[in-house]
Amino acid sequence: MTFLLRFLLFVAAFYLLRKLLNRLFGKRVASSGRRARPATGTRKEISGQTVKDPQCGTYVATSIAVPLQVKGKTYHFCSTQCRDQFLREADQSRPSVA
Ligand SMILES: [Zn+2]
Repeated sequence: MTFLLRFLLFVAAFYLLRKLLNRLFGKRVASSGRRARPATGTRKEISGQTVKDPQCGTYVATSIAVPLQVKGKTYHFCSTQCRDQFLREADQSRPSVA
């Protein structure tokens, strides 16, 4: 019975030690470990890069911009409103040839 008790004490001590180490080095381990990367299909753009919103002229970071692909070209907008407005004007400017 004393053997079991000693074993349990050992396990408990080991567990507490690990918990303490995790608390001390947890942050460092988390940051140096695998970094959470947004799983976007395309990674042609580096996050933090700024592009000009063709609609309002605002410079916006690609990581937070609203992307729109038109004929293989990617536009970035500061908001969905700008994107929708851009699409609307593109439709209006297009000559309606039957
Ligand atoms: Zn805009």
